[in-house]
Amino acid sequence: MAERPIITGIELTEFEFTLQDFGVDYNGFNLVYEGGNKLTRRSAVLQVHTDQGITGEYLTGLVQMSTLPMFANYLIGQNALERERIYQDTKRALRQVARMGMACVDVALWDIAGKFYDAPIYELLGGHIRPLKSYASTTHGDHNGGLDSPEAYADFAQVCLDKGYPAFKIHGWGDSLVDLEIANIHAVGQRVGDRMDLMLDPACELDTFADAVKVGRACDDERFYWLEDPYKDGGISQFAHRKLRQLLRTPILQTEHVRTLEPHVDFALADATDFLRGDVGYDGITGVMKVAHAAEGLGLDIEMHGPGPAQRHVMTSLRNTNYYEMGLLNPANEGTSMPIYLDYADGLDEVDEKGCVYAPQGAGLGVTLDWDYIRAHTTEHLAYS
Ligand SMILES: [Mg+2]
Repeated sequence: MAERPIITGIELTEFEFTLQDFGVDYNGFNLVYEGGNKLTRRSAVLQVHTDQGITGEYLTGLVQMSTLPMFANYLIGQNALERERIYQDTKRALRQVARMGMACVDVALWDIAGKFYDAPIYELLGGHIRPLKSYASTTHGDHNGGLDSPEAYADFAQVCLDKGYPAFKIHGWGDSLVDLEIANIHAVGQRVGDRMDLMLDPACELDTFADAVKVGRACDDERFYWLEDPYKDGGISQFAHRKLRQLLRTPILQTEHVRTLEPHVDFALADATDFLRGDVGYDGITGVMKVAHAAEGLGLDIEMHGPGPAQRHVMTSLRNTNYYEMGLLNPANEGTSMPIYLDYADGLDEVDEKGCVYAPQGAGLGVTLDWDYIRAHTTEHLAYS
């Protein structure tokens, strides 16, 4: 048996990139279309090095990895293949800091495992390559000539349908504009609802539970596929979402904003969600697979949050999942994906004629980062060894 790869060092490289024709909306957070504006954002690459020359890499952020000083020394010297033990150890050690950072290390360890065994991650998970149906997931609504009206959303849904997408998810306007949100549900529903699965994600922006009920009833009228994170409980109240499910016919998708296995299971057992959410950036591949199998045991489905190679590998290995989230998309600009891979991209036109994507075929995550770009735009670099 080959020598086990031992972790010898960890690097975190933060870099800048520019989103063309993007701005932020009223609250300073949501990315929206803004013609002619350049928005500078930062991201970071986590690298876990081993004594065999294999390096695991995962795209994250300095904030997500702000806990690294707490556990970098623990990681160095570990067998990089012992993901389960490292998951359990870091879950305990980082419990007071919301377990931030453990997920990104876990994905990097899966990248190492794939490179060590010379296999794509989905193969290590028992999957076989298959098409993944995608939904076009919009940026938030704006007031600048992009997604600035229900008609603009309906037009964009039609564009996505024509490109092959079988489903479309609305992120509407912030600021709890309930009447506009409801008009949007009807406009998109009446334009494409007989040919696309439609979802609504207010991203926890509606002010009140009553707003969530009103908007949910419009989703009922248009037979939406799911309603996700409607209001300002922040997506975490089991009691409120159980009540909401009792008042609506539209399936509810919660648990994007709860971390680790146990709270996901508690949410489902409280009758507080129909779909479970899996986020590799919150829980790693190890944690999301636990949630996926727990969902399977309850007869439920898990839907991956956001696009990315790790999400594709996980989806490829599961039965009980439906749609890949392709986003965030806008008819008037290039969307929010970063152009930092040499051989991989997400974006409006990165689906086939049936609206499907595939997991990368190479070893590990199967993607190659553009280190020339990252080094030319580096803003901060941390190293542990
Ligand atoms: Mg969401």
